[in-house]
Amino acid sequence: MISTSIALARELFSLLLIKNNRMTKHYKKEDITVVWQPDLCIHSAICARGLNSVFKPREKPWINPEGATKDEIVSQVLKCPSKALSILEMKESEE
Ligand code: SF4
Repeated sequence: MISTSIALARELFSLLLIKNNRMTKHYKKEDITVVWQPDLCIHSAICARGLNSVFKPREKPWINPEGATKDEIVSQVLKCPSKALSILEMKESEE
């Protein structure tokens, strides 16, 4: 009985870890989507200092894709030191 409970607890813990690892937030801009993975963010604020019209940590939602051009956003996302930010590009067939 105890070993069954321990096995169940391990299973639940694994499922929680998997769920957390997959947590992402998406912010669409034209044919790209800015993806933010909170678990990877080290809160360096490089994004907010580099492009404060888009990355606003004190607001919700904290990313405003309308605050800059697509190229400016992509350029800033590439500077994220932890890769918490990334870009998904939509293919023409997906639009
Ligand atoms: S630059 Fe990346 S790691 Fe730093 S605060 Fe922004 S999202 Fe988080």
